[in-house]
Parts: sequence; C-alpha cells; structure tokens
Amino acid sequence: MDHPFSALSAQDPAVYGAMRAELHRQQLELELIASENYASPAVIAAAGSVLTNKYAEGLPARRYYGGCEYVDTVENIARKRARDLFTPVGPDGEPLCDIGVNVQPHAGAQANAAAFLALMDGGDRFLGLALSHGGHLTHGSPVNSSGKLYQPFHYHLREDDGRIDFDQVRDLAREHRPRVIVCGASAYPRALDFATFREIADEVDALLMADIAHIAGLVAGGVHENPFPHCHLVTTTTHKTLRGPRGGLIMAQRDLMKDVNSAVFPGTQGGPLMHIIAAKAVAFGEALQPSFQTYARQVVDNAAAMAERLMERGLSLVSGGTDNHLMLIDLSEHDVSGKDAEIALGAAGITVNKNTVPGERRSPMVTSGVRVGTPALTTRGMGVAESRRIADLIADVIGAAQDEAVRARVKGEIEELCRAFPIYGDSPGSALGGGA
Ligand SMILES: *Cc1c(COP(=O)(O)O)cnc(C)c1O
Repeated sequence: MDHPFSALSAQDPAVYGAMRAELHRQQLELELIASENYASPAVIAAAGSVLTNKYAEGLPARRYYGGCEYVDTVENIARKRARDLFTPVGPDGEPLCDIGVNVQPHAGAQANAAAFLALMDGGDRFLGLALSHGGHLTHGSPVNSSGKLYQPFHYHLREDDGRIDFDQVRDLAREHRPRVIVCGASAYPRALDFATFREIADEVDALLMADIAHIAGLVAGGVHENPFPHCHLVTTTTHKTLRGPRGGLIMAQRDLMKDVNSAVFPGTQGGPLMHIIAAKAVAFGEALQPSFQTYARQVVDNAAAMAERLMERGLSLVSGGTDNHLMLIDLSEHDVSGKDAEIALGAAGITVNKNTVPGERRSPMVTSGVRVGTPALTTRGMGVAESRRIADLIADVIGAAQDEAVRARVKGEIEELCRAFPIYGDSPGSALGGGA
C-alpha cells in the first residue's frame, strides 16, 4: 500500500489541498489564540495512524472486543505517564495522594460531561465561574448539557481587581450547598488558589473539581501549582498548553475512579479513539522531559514580557497583568471593540479571539476584550525579545485599527518573524500525518 500521505494527495486533492493551505497558514501566521499550540510531528504521526481502526470499548485487560493486546499496551503507557505527570509530590519526592486517570475522553467538553455524571445526580447544584468572566460553556451554560441536566450557580471576578471573588464563592456555597464546586477557566490570567477553594468546599461538604484545560502544561511543567491533593477530581484537555493531540483527560482521587470510568464508558462515550490515546501517550512522554519544564517556564516568561510591553504602550489588561500563559486586553475605554481588534489583527497576520471582560458593556458577539496567549509562539522557539516586539505590533494595529498601511507593514513583519522561527520544516508530510 502507498504511504498514507501520498495516498491522500493522489486520491483526494480537494481535502489534501485544504490541509496544505492550513499547514501554510500555521507556518506563516502568528498564533496567539491562548488555547492553541503546535503538536510535535511524533504526536501527529501517532494521531494519523492505523490505531483509528480499532474498537476497544472498556479498559485495558477488560475490553468488550478481541485483538486489543497492542492498544492495551498503548493505553497503559498513556495512563502511567499521565499519573507520573500529575501526581503531586512533597519536598522529599514522596507522592501526596494516590490518583487514578482515564485517558479516553474525546475532548475537554466530554471530560467535563463525564466528570459531572460521575459526581452528580440529575438536578444537583454546582458552582462555577461565569462564562462572561472567563468560565467555560461546560460549567453550566444554559445551552450546554451541564446547564440543562444540573443546576448551576455562578461566581464572578471582582470588578476592581479582576480576581476571583472568594467572598462571593463562599456566600454562594453557604446559600446553595452545592454538590460540586468547579474551579478553572478559559480566560483567567491569574493563578488559581486551589487551597482556598478546598476550604470552602469542605465547609459546605462539596466535592472540589478543577478544570485545568488551559493550564495543564503549566502544571505538568511545574510553573503552576498542582490542583492535587486539594481537588477531588481534575479534568483537562490535552491539546492546549499540554501540546498533545486534541483530546480530554480525567484524573481523580483513587476512590472516585470507579464512578469516573463508568461515566466515561458507557456513561457518555462508546469506543475510545485509540489513535488519539497513542498520541496522548507520546505527548505525555514529551511533557515528562526536562525540556518541557523549560518550555513551560518560557511560556510564562513570554506572557509576562508581552503583558508588560502592552501596558507600557498604554493598553489595559484585566487584573493588571498575568501569572500564566494568557492575558486579556481590556478595550472597554476604547473606540475599538474586541471584534474590531480581532479583525484588524487578523488582517495583519496575528490570530487572536475577541473575549468578554468583567463588567462587559458590549454584546458577546462584539465584546470589549481580546484574549492573547503565548503557548504556540513559545513552541516555535520565540522568547522574551520577540514577545515584546509582538506586543508593539499588537499595539500598533489596535492604535490604528482602520489604517491599511499599518496592517500591511505589520503583516510583513509578522511573516518575517514566522519565517525566522519555522515550524514543521519544509516537509509537509511530517505535519500532515505522513512521516517524511
Ligand atoms: C477548552 C476548554 C474546555 C473544552 O475543551 P474542548 O476540547 O474544546 O471540548 C473545557 N474547559 C475549559 C476551561 C476550557 O478552556
């Protein structure tokens, strides 16, 4: 049989052509979407493999299908590496708690749906961060199953300093006696204080769940506090700062794992994506290397440098800065909306997303904020100097959002920068799932 990559280009030029174009977009545009990253060619090779052919419902050694011996090996490697990455250790290196993991959730939303099914009964109350203040749809939005099947109550950020309002969290917890308190966010630039959340959860006898979809790579790299042992259960994606394939992961204190496993299958999913689990195993292996700690540290240093320069250039940031990989530019005092800025920056080769800010006065389709993050540019090898330069280019574009000449100049500079920090080399096969 032909190599799968050449088979694709010959058989289906329409799909292949679009994939090539997407590769070039990733190579030549600057990716500042805080939830995106570039998986390694090894991760992509595993994701684009024959493991997609295999049914493996159940867990290793307890499958509902034959022929699972090799995918069992793969899933066991993924599980062991995930545990090694996220088990919290004390000063002498001893584990602080015993966690179990389930590597099968198809993505972050599926991990959260299964986690809720494991921890709650229909109609149970839970607390989460409001979507408009940086929370996620799966934390109780009325359009998501989490908001339809359970009863959510939302806490907010304080408007004066952009930090989580723990007084409100405590008041809501005392008033509503939730079964679960969820911490974790999609657009929160500050470190999460798991210990304080746990204190509140203990006071009202609730379970504490962290959704570390955004910061998992920072936790794995040792630059953000581990949610364990404070949390009872932790969900994450594997494709954001963790830099693996698009996927989800659930980790929990050992006594909850039986419920977690049955909530994933048969509770919310059928057959696991074994090719993606193989890619997760490869990514976890990468994240266990010392070089990943260097990466995570650089992500945070780059974000700090970018934030500092943006503020020097007169832009406001929600909470006045960042502790992690992302920041929120607050345009509520500006004529330029989040939507305008997203379009203008996009035309200049800088990909960002508009975002609501605390106290938002514009509509959610327009918004007054822009979310930017450094995980992807750091994977390209960019450092503090480039992060400051990019902040200048962002400020130039936002300061002259209608000026075509500024956009064109910035676009040229961005392309030059991307060429100086290439990804996926010249060989598209390595990035399109086909080896060299
Ligand atoms: C991205 C994200 C998710 C959802 O992940 P998907 O893989 O897109 O389903 C869930 N929770 C948080 C906090 C996220 O940021």
